Amino acid sequence: MKIAMIGSGYVGLVSGACLADFGHDVICVDKDPEKIVALRAGRIPIYEPGLDELVANNMRAGRLAFSTDLAAAVAEASVVFIAVGTPARRGDGHADLSYVYGASREIARAMRGFTVVVTKSTVPVGTGDEVERILRAENPTADFAVASNPEFLREGAAIADFKRPDRIVVGLDDERARPVLSEVYRPLYLNAAPLLFTDRRTSELIKYAANGFLAMKITFINEMADLCEKVGADVQQVARGIGLDNRIGSKFLHAGPGFGGSCFPKDTLALIKTAQDHEAPLRLIETTHAVNDQRKRAMARKVIAACGGSVRDKTVALLGLTFKPNTDDMREAPSLAIVQALQDAGAIVRAYDPQGMAAAREMMPSIEYGSGPYDVARDADALVIITEWDAFRALDFQELARIMRAPILVDLRNIYRRADVVGHGFTYVSIGRSSVS
Ligand code: NAD
Repeated sequence: MKIAMIGSGYVGLVSGACLADFGHDVICVDKDPEKIVALRAGRIPIYEPGLDELVANNMRAGRLAFSTDLAAAVAEASVVFIAVGTPARRGDGHADLSYVYGASREIARAMRGFTVVVTKSTVPVGTGDEVERILRAENPTADFAVASNPEFLREGAAIADFKRPDRIVVGLDDERARPVLSEVYRPLYLNAAPLLFTDRRTSELIKYAANGFLAMKITFINEMADLCEKVGADVQQVARGIGLDNRIGSKFLHAGPGFGGSCFPKDTLALIKTAQDHEAPLRLIETTHAVNDQRKRAMARKVIAACGGSVRDKTVALLGLTFKPNTDDMREAPSLAIVQALQDAGAIVRAYDPQGMAAAREMMPSIEYGSGPYDVARDADALVIITEWDAFRALDFQELARIMRAPILVDLRNIYRRADVVGHGFTYVSIGRSSVS
């Protein structure tokens, strides 16, 4: 099957490479010429484990190509996926659909023969209707169907998620799209991944409902962690105690500094806005969004408290800046708000991240960047783990105690046991755990 993937970012590139790996003939298009030049030369513009090899193998096999020429790619394709960004719109927080609609106008003029146009981008309910309207207005004689196929992959585990999804959701109002998308995903449901067909609006909403629910689950355990700290309970045992109940499930119950990333913050906000517009406000999601927003600066206050109430002219060393491990994505990372709050309180901030420093430097030019955990910890007054990269899971506390000015560890991901840290003379502060665990 000939597929054009419009947008070669985290989702488009991973999806395109995986679909090529299934045996389809895929052209990934991007309007950023630097990205396409890099990809053609075998350089992957993002960090995603395993992606370099997957791309190289499929390019070599002649199933995966990269282009800036949307029209040529679309003309050849029987399925066109739209995987462009849908960031929060400045000013009102609605999803900014200008990239989706811009791509739709370009696609309209380029379609040849019956074409299934699929929104893979996360788009609010009704976007498929507008894409359909644009395609028809721009090219009244074109033969096409518009479907919705939201993507559920997680950065850092994107290839495994795409290839072994819990489910594939396809929303369509035109039955002609069904056999086409069934064929696209046939290799997956042979492996028993359920292919769930719905109408288009339902499919669009499923994506937001999923992200809203997951964001709520994280925020629930984060607030529970705050209560644990006040009453002397242990949030990890609470999470285990409730997570063993199958109705609740153990995933997404890790207390931390609040959710970030390129999806949850903007998707919860867009969902809130959609619901308000339709006079069906989602108060649980509104609260989730507000609670999470406040949490990030609260994490800085935790660091300040651990430092005795002031960080003025003190050096705070941060480990991990990306919103989660195994990605270089800095969009809406909690570190951004934490750094700002620490700087507002007069701290000198140093940081190290295994993959995120290039993006972080652009967003936070005023902090110092180091070459590793021990480099940033030298002469620091506190060390803060913000992102739980594997590289931070076996730190040498004897060495850290020797080189730091003050042995204080604030572990915002609960990756250590208190006993292992305080034994080296450290003050240890974590999230939602009593002073003994
Ligand atoms: P991204 O910013 O990494 O990539 C988008 C790409 O689209 C960019 O490279 C941009 O240059 C390109 N683009 C924009 N307009 C174009 C056009 N007209 N023609 C060709 N290329 C164009 O974004 P992303 O993280 O891949 O997210 C894409 C969509 O997928 C969003 O709606 C997002 O919410 C959704 N999503 C993201 C994830 C994730 O983990 N990143 C997961 C699930 C869903």
